[in-house]
Amino acid sequence: MVDLRVDAVSKRYGETTALADVSLTIADGEFFTLVGPSGCGKTTTLRAVAGFESPTTGEIRFGDREMTGVPPEDRDVGIVFQSYALFPHMSVAENVAYGLRFRDPPDGQSVDERVADLLDLVDLSGTGERDPSELSGGQQQRVALARALAPNPQLLLLDEPMSALDARLRERLRQQVKQIQSDLGITTLYVTHDQEEALAVSDRVAVMRDGRVEQVGTPQDMYRRPETRFVAEFVGENNVFEGRVAGHAGETTTVTVDGEDLLISRVDATEGESVAFCVRPEALSVVDGAADGSAGDTADGRTLDAPANRLSADVEYAEFLGEAVRVHATWNGRDLVVRLPDEPNDGALTVGFDPRSAHVVEGDR
Ligand code: ATP
Repeated sequence: MVDLRVDAVSKRYGETTALADVSLTIADGEFFTLVGPSGCGKTTTLRAVAGFESPTTGEIRFGDREMTGVPPEDRDVGIVFQSYALFPHMSVAENVAYGLRFRDPPDGQSVDERVADLLDLVDLSGTGERDPSELSGGQQQRVALARALAPNPQLLLLDEPMSALDARLRERLRQQVKQIQSDLGITTLYVTHDQEEALAVSDRVAVMRDGRVEQVGTPQDMYRRPETRFVAEFVGENNVFEGRVAGHAGETTTVTVDGEDLLISRVDATEGESVAFCVRPEALSVVDGAADGSAGDTADGRTLDAPANRLSADVEYAEFLGEAVRVHATWNGRDLVVRLPDEPNDGALTVGFDPRSAHVVEGDR
């Protein structure tokens, strides 16, 4: 296996800049995911790694090998696309064997042995004689994965492989893919627009925006420590507040937001400086009786003692999600999303949050 470096890669199509100075280092054996909204450059990055696109500037390296000019078939990568792209006139086994057209099976195996091993790996033993059309969408995608892995490639590239499947199947398949990836220890670059999927399967994630990498980190980093407002709002739901620093006291900083003072963990900013911070919907809790200092319950049932921050909000609507209720509210005309254990009783809601739940972020939307 091998590590992958994307070094200062830009890609322009005429006037369109698809990639602007993208640099990524993906470790040997890592499951690395590119996530971001439509058009942010995920697929272009993956296609440049596969060799289907050549960067306008910059380099791509597999280990010590610089890949400029190396055609896709000589790059030793396995690729799975959104459309399974199985050949309908070939059996499942023949489809998997097609993955061996440029390369003999590894370890001196025969083609039949290799195909049987791979069908076993993707949990489809015994289906080799069938037509792809006789398999479900999830099974067909596993055949496509077996075909990609057949020549024992040094890199696995997956471009939105789950998006044609329904939600339940997607969840199962992504865990199967993750398991196979980690059993094989194959360096993997995964592309998805689904941030939940990215958090669920990846060792590390890069959030892309407008052809650039916005932030790279573990799923926990991306969710708990987003560096920018864009990441804070793209990865999971968030409430972002902008205001000006009014002062510091001990461990806290007061930020005036729309004329109201809110307390956050102390930040390194001078008085009057503008700051933006985010508070997750599950970090907001209902505070009974507004100003009486009584406790509130967070979505996970924790109780907040006399929360420092009290926001009197108007409920717009509530969605029952089963394990929680998502309440859409407004506070001083701003949208506020709150995750609560129960439906709110009336149209007015006072919520609080612990200053330590607020996380400062950079930048605009
Ligand atoms: P999606 O999730 O919609 O697939 P993406 O993040 O994968 O989006 P890319 O397909 O990489 O985005 O596209 C990045 C940008 O480059 C877009 O603005 C797209 O329109 C543009 N682009 C991609 N391929 C070409 C091309 N062959 N010619 C011109 N522009 C292109």
